[in-house]
Amino acid sequence: MSIIRFNALKELNKRTVPEVEFPSNKISDYFGTNVFDLPKMQKHLSKEAYNGVKQSIESGRRIDRKIADQIAAGMKDWAVGKGATHYSHWFHPLTGNTAEKHDSFLNIDQTGNAFEAFAGELLAQQEPDASSFPHGGLRNTFEARGYTAWDPSSPAFIVGKTLCIPTIFISYTGEALDFKTPLLKSLDVLDKAAAKVCNYFDKNVKKVIANLGWEQEYFLVDEALYLARPDLALTGRTLMGHASAKDQQLSDHYFSSIPERVLEYMKNFEIEAHKLGIPVKTRHNEVAPNQFECAPIFEEANLANDHNQLIMEIMRKVAKKHKFKVLFHEKPFAGVNGSGKHNNWSLATDTGINLLKPGKSPKMNLQFLTFLINVVKAVRNHSDLIRATIISSGNQHRLGGNEAPPAIISVFLGNKLNNMLNEIEQRIPDKKMTPDEKTEIKLDIGKIPEILIDNTDRNRTSPFAFTGNRFEFRAVGSSDNNAGPMIALNTAVADQLNQFKKDVDKLIFGKIKKDEAVFQVLRRYITESKDVRFEGNGYSEEWIKEAGSRGLSNIKSAAKAYKAYISKETIDLYERNHVLNERELNSRYEIKIGEYVKKIQIEARVLGDLAINHIIPTAVKYQSMLISSVKDLKVIIQDDEEFNELAGRRIITIKTIAKHTNSIKTLVDEMVEERKIANKIEDCTNKIENYEFKVKPYSEKIRYHIDKLELIVDDEMWPLPKYRELLFSR
Ligand code: ADP
Ligand code: MG
Repeated sequence: MSIIRFNALKELNKRTVPEVEFPSNKISDYFGTNVFDLPKMQKHLSKEAYNGVKQSIESGRRIDRKIADQIAAGMKDWAVGKGATHYSHWFHPLTGNTAEKHDSFLNIDQTGNAFEAFAGELLAQQEPDASSFPHGGLRNTFEARGYTAWDPSSPAFIVGKTLCIPTIFISYTGEALDFKTPLLKSLDVLDKAAAKVCNYFDKNVKKVIANLGWEQEYFLVDEALYLARPDLALTGRTLMGHASAKDQQLSDHYFSSIPERVLEYMKNFEIEAHKLGIPVKTRHNEVAPNQFECAPIFEEANLANDHNQLIMEIMRKVAKKHKFKVLFHEKPFAGVNGSGKHNNWSLATDTGINLLKPGKSPKMNLQFLTFLINVVKAVRNHSDLIRATIISSGNQHRLGGNEAPPAIISVFLGNKLNNMLNEIEQRIPDKKMTPDEKTEIKLDIGKIPEILIDNTDRNRTSPFAFTGNRFEFRAVGSSDNNAGPMIALNTAVADQLNQFKKDVDKLIFGKIKKDEAVFQVLRRYITESKDVRFEGNGYSEEWIKEAGSRGLSNIKSAAKAYKAYISKETIDLYERNHVLNERELNSRYEIKIGEYVKKIQIEARVLGDLAINHIIPTAVKYQSMLISSVKDLKVIIQDDEEFNELAGRRIITIKTIAKHTNSIKTLVDEMVEERKIANKIEDCTNKIENYEFKVKPYSEKIRYHIDKLELIVDDEMWPLPKYRELLFSR
């Protein structure tokens, strides 16, 4: 057998299950022990410093320098007490990973004595060299500095021996180079816009936060098998591999009992997550073999997103101990489901109301409908932008496949709510309402809670579904930073709520009573956003046709989709709300394209290399064996007819192998030529088009022949672990 595959399978047989011990019987005993959260601040900080942080968290205002010194000292004492030797600003550059640069607390005084110290200025701000992070033209190389600045709303935490401080990351000229900066801005505009709208219904509301509960899907592959697959190791997905005879047809993996080795891994990373205050709650098997999911209790969106980034890091690290590799790629294996990240999103007031949950009175329900309808309209208005935020070279394999929502952005509300909106649309007259009409409509709205209690229909095929008390955005890629789609959604909804306020105020100014004004505007919005609502099967061909006739866009191409980052609508939206400016959007557009192009380029190189250096030589070796065996037959069988009968099929196989290896060689050569052409292109828009439409299609074509060869060539000789091994070993 091929030595690499053979050794990998041998390693696999040696696996034992390490048993994980819990630090205590109760999770609550160790939950958050490695986080400098408010209770710990209270203990380690002066009253003044504690109040300073608290105020800054609540108001989003900067912390005074003097207080920063006190906070830093308290934070350091706590961290050193827990064994930390270093600190690091922890941020989300646009690479999609998190970044950190560690400095020790070490200081030397004038007499040469060493001591630990941490000044407020080091907590508040740092200047890492930003030149190697993606910036999309935002930063000239002569001004390579970037700034990181503390985000007090996300508490510091200890990983290993390092105190990590969540920060934003901006250029010298103040432009965002990260995900967090615009996310925080979008949450702020959403807060202000939503609170104003809430005040129509309740004067006491001062603040509205967005909550996010992410569901993270992932695959586990044994480390030895992973390392024997250069395509997995270098691109995160398999570029070849014939389908396993059995994969997910029997639906016997989803929610079934968790394999022991996997369960110990889950326990282990959950313990680490809990210590870091990440409220992981749910674990289960997913649809594809070796695919799993974890989900926490939802939290404020910025914190939730930090926690999602952090848990991905932890999951990677802990996997090492268990000799697993965790795959966050959206489509590691062809033919079985890929992985996504469902973003459960809702809005909550400081008075304890979930604005996306029907209330107890007609007034509260009118508020619920207001937010519901405004969200639907916001998604309708900016569906192209929302799509752009979730398209990537990985997610492209999922969207529109038979497992994930299509590239058409639509909203599912559930039958009853959908009918209710239709009724409201028809009921509310295009003139001043009579008292009777008003009463009737209020009665209708009062019925919502009753309606929703038995509204259990869930539509798994919708990219953006209302699920009773929140929206669930299901088209996000499993490797993505949630901030991408969340920035777009928050800003679109904030903008829409501001428009709503203007529209209602205009009617009120025209002497129409508040309730009626709200009704009138909502009715108009229902009509204007109706075409984005869809209750049927989002995976079906009919929907694709119908969406087309409704004028909804179905943009599968990345090159095309990304243009929404720099469309006039998007630039206006983000500039109007001060979330991102045109330069920043242009930079993000370039970065997205750069990332896409590089990923396809790497895939193409790896595929070419594997095809020429692994697959063809193996196939040729097997072919030679067959040829020798035919020659041997010829020696012992003199009769031509008998020889043809016995060797004929073997000769056909020899020819088939030749056909496939020839095709592979020709296609790889053509692909290399296309890459050369594409690489010379400077303009990023042209470049991605070439990579997407000229280079990328070769991958499927080449794979086709390789997968055919996999079925022909002696299993003993095949160099790469096969799908059945990757998907069923654990
Ligand atoms: P499923 O959608 O698979 O039934 P769950 O019911 O476990 O999944 O919920 C998925 C996620 O939704 C969890 O992270 C949960 O905390 C989150 N969630 C529940 N209610 C809300 C809400 N009001 N706002 C935001 N997220 C929520
Ligand atoms: Mg869900």
